[in-house]
Amino acid sequence: MPNIPLVDLAAAHVEVAEEVEAGFKRVIADTAFVGGAEVAAFEREYAAFTGVPHCVGVANGTDAIELALRAIGVGPGAEVILPANTFIATAEAVARAGGRPVLVDCDPASYLIDVDAALAAVTPATRAVLPVHLYGQLADVARLRAGLAGRDVAVVEDAAQCQGATRHGRQAGADGIAATSFYPGKNLGAYGDAGAVVAADAGLATTVRTLGSHGGLTKYAHDIVGVNSRLDGLQAVVLRAKLGRLADWNAARRAAAARYDELLASLDVVRPVTVDGNEHVWHIYCVRIAGDGTPARRDAVLARLNAAGVGAGIHYPVPVHRTGAFADLGYPAGAFPHAERAADELLSLPIYPQITPAQQARVAEALAAALTD
Ligand SMILES: *Cc1c(COP(=O)(O)O)cnc(C)c1O
Repeated sequence: MPNIPLVDLAAAHVEVAEEVEAGFKRVIADTAFVGGAEVAAFEREYAAFTGVPHCVGVANGTDAIELALRAIGVGPGAEVILPANTFIATAEAVARAGGRPVLVDCDPASYLIDVDAALAAVTPATRAVLPVHLYGQLADVARLRAGLAGRDVAVVEDAAQCQGATRHGRQAGADGIAATSFYPGKNLGAYGDAGAVVAADAGLATTVRTLGSHGGLTKYAHDIVGVNSRLDGLQAVVLRAKLGRLADWNAARRAAAARYDELLASLDVVRPVTVDGNEHVWHIYCVRIAGDGTPARRDAVLARLNAAGVGAGIHYPVPVHRTGAFADLGYPAGAFPHAERAADELLSLPIYPQITPAQQARVAEALAAALTD
């Protein structure tokens, strides 16, 4: 039987192939390779889709976070609070903006940032909290904001994994600023690197755009020291084609997650939960496999699944404070027990809009066998 990939980008391409080819021809005919009409149209369409008034396309998600942080004033000496369990880019963006990452633990059931821990970590040097909407559902930004009321601390949302997800009907960035990634494997993925910042405030969006275009909005006007981080026309074509299908694709992911919930109900794994008030978009469907305080059992199950042709994976095997890159933050092993346990025990199963019930049944069978071997 053919292998089942963790993510099937080829199946998604089939649905948009014609639109993408026609769009590529337009961009090439116009030679509008960086910026241009396709990028402007995508920015408008993505703002409309998210319900956040302003969207600025940038080169990738890591840049999006960095530029959003810099736009709200994060620079040397600023502390930025983020969860220990996230993709490394969240912490890298803080470091690149000149700030100091301050890590906190996650909630053991949802794996989302522990809002109380984040509020407790605020110091006079804190300039921002950077919640991550991990795996496809939103962290409780409203509660975070309420706890920060009266303090000069901004919220910048890492929305790389949650395109289309809502909490109480609203998407990331609705009240502030959110950074997202269109890396090919994300729910809305380009055919290369791409990202965006969405912001409620026009001035903040303009600052992001200025920072990302060499510090100026007109040619050779360089008002501040910026960087080169722009969306290109070919990626905008892909993103426009896929954006038109994103709501349906997210609904298909929800149906697939519900199917896994049924298929796995009798297995000895902890299934993922959706927090009340959230509409999940299932960027990742991960199960927890109880271990002995090491990743050994999870890793053995992963190896058996991979050997059976099931493309399972781990998001993420090493929490930020246990990486070499951020060892100098000085957090000891055991500092964030829930994040560390997640790193040792979580296993991501194949999920994508086009996954079939037969494929999911085979994943469940392979997982059952891998658990009892
Ligand atoms: C993918 C991702 C990023 C970074 O995006 P890139 O486009 O790869 O730079 C940041 N944060 C999270 C949580 C991600 O999943």
